[in-house]
Amino acid sequence: MSRAERDLLALDRAHVWHPYGPMPGRSDPYLVQSAAGVRLRLADGRELVDGMSSWWAAVHGYRHPVLDAALAEQAGRMSHVMFGGLTHEPAVTLAARLVELTPPGLEHVFLCDSGSVGVEVAIKMALQAQRALGRPGRRRLATWRGGYHGDTFHPMSVCDPVGGMHALWTGVLPAQIFAGPPPARFDPDYADSLVTMIERHADELAAVIVEPVVQGAGGMRFHHPEYLRVLRDATAAHGVFLIFDEIATGFGRTGRFFAAEHAGVSPDIMCLGKALTGGYLTLAATLCTPEVAEAISAGEGGGLAHGPTFMGNPLACAVANASLGLLGDGGWAHRVREIENRLTDGLEPLRTAPGVADVRVLGAIGVVQLDHPVDLPRATAAAVARGVWLRPFRDLIYTMPPYVTDDADMARITAGIAAAVAAG
Ligand code: PLP
Repeated sequence: MSRAERDLLALDRAHVWHPYGPMPGRSDPYLVQSAAGVRLRLADGRELVDGMSSWWAAVHGYRHPVLDAALAEQAGRMSHVMFGGLTHEPAVTLAARLVELTPPGLEHVFLCDSGSVGVEVAIKMALQAQRALGRPGRRRLATWRGGYHGDTFHPMSVCDPVGGMHALWTGVLPAQIFAGPPPARFDPDYADSLVTMIERHADELAAVIVEPVVQGAGGMRFHHPEYLRVLRDATAAHGVFLIFDEIATGFGRTGRFFAAEHAGVSPDIMCLGKALTGGYLTLAATLCTPEVAEAISAGEGGGLAHGPTFMGNPLACAVANASLGLLGDGGWAHRVREIENRLTDGLEPLRTAPGVADVRVLGAIGVVQLDHPVDLPRATAAAVARGVWLRPFRDLIYTMPPYVTDDADMARITAGIAAAVAAG
């Protein structure tokens, strides 16, 4: 490592917070110099295949010529302009496309800056609409355990409350209502427990919020899509809104364009983020039905009480439009199926490896769950030694690769996971 790189890392440790990290930093992060295709190039010259798609966002890989061109072209025209009283083509085109692509019934789009804020907006929509409909007592949310919806306060209140990332905040966050974690197989008793929860709490419930089919950062668990239909019927019967958080699952990751399609269910409110811009820029979208929008608009204040500075950022919207254009040829579906096959071939044999509790694969998501907490530095270093970037957490070693990862690089990723399992 050069002197300049050592100096940079010393400054990083001294001054730069990393996610959930201490300050000053206690271990050096890997220093990335550039990224292209599915590879991260480290400052010391090593190249790593990115098994994480930069936290599940970079579905087309890095430096994609179409996305680079869209960004450069938009930067040449207008990088940002306030959204109050002004509008622009990239945002309007994006909103119209999202309405077309998302499940039927979602017609209005709020463009904000990150997934967590997108979930805040969804919750605000539900609370504001209930209030406007003459039900101001409906201020609580229900969900199931094992979820993750972001790091700001209201989203934290619907993350897994026990052993989750936000256990620290118990007693500070609004008290929400939790069902048990959704089982992988369909269990009619569990489905009944969801209905009972909604019936019992209907008078105080604004909305039910869930990640459809795959719970991501709360534990990388998959559940039966039928539970989404059960939630749809029970919430509709009691005037409770249904929010799907598709920030992690949207844009093909589970093998369908949106995970809601596994169940053929439309929510009242839906959150998108991460892969919305192909991982290039921070952007989220919260969509809702006319029923929700009309209630809010007819209520106190006459509109949704939210308006961030970087709302509808044109650079982010232009890249999102280019990313949707790339996905529009449908090639992603074939590639995600191939990745699913490669993950099954590569990870299933680990089921019998020492320390492995479970292996699960869905779409471009491969998970190995251990029977003990992962030794993060050792597991990461073992994958890096195989030329693969992974970021395990808790007892989970997993991959969500870019869709453009070819078979040879998929073999490298599954070998990296095997090495991480052996080390961690
Ligand atoms: N919702 C889900 C399902 C997520 O997976 C995440 C992030 O991992 C978020 C919300 C929060 O998104 P962001 O990190 O962009 O704030």
